[in-house]
Amino acid sequence: MSIETLNIPGIPQAVSRIALGTWAIGGWKWGGSDADESVATIQAAVDRGINFLDTAPVYGFGRSEELVGRALAGGRRQRAVIATKVGVSWNDGKVFRDSRPACVRRSVEESLRRLQTDYIDLYQVHWPDSLVPFEETAEELERLRRAGKILAIGVSNFSPAQMQRFSSTALLSTVQPPYNLFERAIDQDVLPYARGTGLTVLAYGALCRGLLSGRITGTTTFEGDDLRGYDPKFQEPRRSQYLAAVHALDQLARDIGGLRVLALAVRWVLDRGKTVALWGARRPQQLEGMEQAFGWNLSPQQMQQIDAIVAGLVTDPVGPDFMAPPLRAA
Ligand code: NAP
Repeated sequence: MSIETLNIPGIPQAVSRIALGTWAIGGWKWGGSDADESVATIQAAVDRGINFLDTAPVYGFGRSEELVGRALAGGRRQRAVIATKVGVSWNDGKVFRDSRPACVRRSVEESLRRLQTDYIDLYQVHWPDSLVPFEETAEELERLRRAGKILAIGVSNFSPAQMQRFSSTALLSTVQPPYNLFERAIDQDVLPYARGTGLTVLAYGALCRGLLSGRITGTTTFEGDDLRGYDPKFQEPRRSQYLAAVHALDQLARDIGGLRVLALAVRWVLDRGKTVALWGARRPQQLEGMEQAFGWNLSPQQMQQIDAIVAGLVTDPVGPDFMAPPLRAA
């Protein structure tokens, strides 16, 4: 199965419509990670044509970016398209939003150093910071773009109104919201806005933090600081509802053509527009089956079957809002 790609304004290379998300590779909030295994995962992704890599300074407090840099050094950088972010800082392990221009100027240099590169393909504002006028951050990013340090600009977790304001100063290419068949809030606003303006949507949590991988059961436990230890979807009685839906979706995937729920969930994201699905693999084996999401489409009837399963079994849905970082203390 050949890998589906799309073009993002400002980035010369076409990007794969599955991107490797490297938050879990950073370890923080995912119960730790193994450096060698992480590097092997990133290299295996690029070697099989998954050339789009999403990271952020805050993922492991620099560790994720460092591992991406290490994995790409020695020949793979030119083949890869790196998306990183700015605007979430940390102090003593406590994170907060910070999109002040001075923070952008410092953060981009730190990211370039960790990533072992002299340009970032896609630079995204991680979370809207209401303490800084969007125009100030946007102006700083435009400066970086004109200087060639970044090729394209994106935002993440922004509303349409926030994007509109941001776009009056900077040329916006992408938006990165949470999106998967259990978390669909953007259907109401961000997705129509992206369709209307031509933005590419980088859907994060396409596997819903592993729930849609099919691996999680009622007895799966999570180690250390793994956020699934307190993610409301993973607590009873909701957990059983979500798992029942995963089970029914897995059966539907088998009926469609011997597939599994993981491919179905990713295909669902890909069939919703000009989208890229972020896939948070952290072991090379977790890349297996990626290609099964490519080369076919869900029919309108299958889309309706998915909607009926989710609506019928998840009677107490909850969103991913628990992940939002706080504003900086005044
Ligand atoms: P995700 O991709 O929905 O789920 C990641 C988890 O899925 C992994 O930790 C792994 O869990 C499991 N998994 C992956 N491949 C698997 C496979 N083949 N079989 C079984 N399990 C598998 O999680 P996410 O990290 O929330 O989202 C993906 C990416 O989106 C992140 O890495 C990050 O780049 C981005 N993101 C961005 C934001 C933002 O605010 N912009 C927020 C969240 C995420 P185990 O290893 O435990 O099995």
